[in-house]
Amino acid sequence: MSTPTRLPELDEIERLLAAGAPHLSGHIEAEIDVGPMRLPLHVLTLGSDRADAPTIGVFGGVHGLERIGAEVVIAFVASLVARLRWDESLHHQLQSLRMVFMPLVNPGGLACGTRANPAGIDLMRNAPIEAREPVPYLIGGQRLSARLPWYQGAQGAPMQPEAQALCDVVERELTSRPFSLAIDCHSGFGLHDRLWFPFAHTRTPIARLPEIHALKALFDDAHPQHRYVFEPQSAQYLAHGDLWDHLVLRTHASTHFLPLTLEMGSWTWVRKNPRQLFSRQGIFNPLIAHRRSRVLRRHLVWLDFAARATHSWQRWLPQGLAREQHQRSARSLWYGEAVP
Ligand SMILES: [Zn+2]
Repeated sequence: MSTPTRLPELDEIERLLAAGAPHLSGHIEAEIDVGPMRLPLHVLTLGSDRADAPTIGVFGGVHGLERIGAEVVIAFVASLVARLRWDESLHHQLQSLRMVFMPLVNPGGLACGTRANPAGIDLMRNAPIEAREPVPYLIGGQRLSARLPWYQGAQGAPMQPEAQALCDVVERELTSRPFSLAIDCHSGFGLHDRLWFPFAHTRTPIARLPEIHALKALFDDAHPQHRYVFEPQSAQYLAHGDLWDHLVLRTHASTHFLPLTLEMGSWTWVRKNPRQLFSRQGIFNPLIAHRRSRVLRRHLVWLDFAARATHSWQRWLPQGLAREQHQRSARSLWYGEAVP
């Protein structure tokens, strides 16, 4: 582990909290000790605080090496803060929509330049849930050693403070409400931008599959040129300890909770700039400024869409026969089942 450094992301979050007042509020959910530093886990909220307000949660920085994930969340908050000064339609939206942000879930990992948290644990393998089918060696999660990547932590140990904080925020702010959408921003997988939905621990479809498919159909219609690949995480690989699987399984059946993981396809950055292969940070983060702004711009379109879809959930959530149709289409598209 290299020496922790001061994080510009935390300065930017504090600047946004000041600029977004009184609409944007924030608190520190937990603090993480890293060497001589104590780093805050900020939670920012905006909009309605009604118990029945549809809520979008946007999370970043779960993996310390994937700096661009935290930057996307911060850029989204910055764009909202700028619009708060003049955008009537945003204020109208916020009267009945709640927005929650955890831009930097793993500040210790970011400060140390590690995927894992300062204890060497991969937060996205840390939930108390084991895959039901074989997982790929190491990458699917392992309990051999914190010195190897994808370490789940000791069997039966409590969740790490960062993972527990994320789960507490989701259960307090999202799954307690009738409709919520979560977007967890990562980078590092493959050539394409992907939107993964659970499960990671099994190839069995989630109960909210028709709703996920309906959301994808809305996005396809509104942005036909988009390049995201929607798919269950299990289509790529299975893993132990996924926090979103854990949260979905704890959610009451009457609640609509749709968690998505945005996996930004960072290998394209490497292909266009092979020097990035020599920088551990570089593999997960675009180095060139114009590429970085293009990445941020592209994903802001998706996040803005996701906020609108959350706000308008009652207009598009499929019911009855339409829901059955989405179920069949989703099973055919993602699980290879024939459409009857
Ligand atoms: Zn990640």
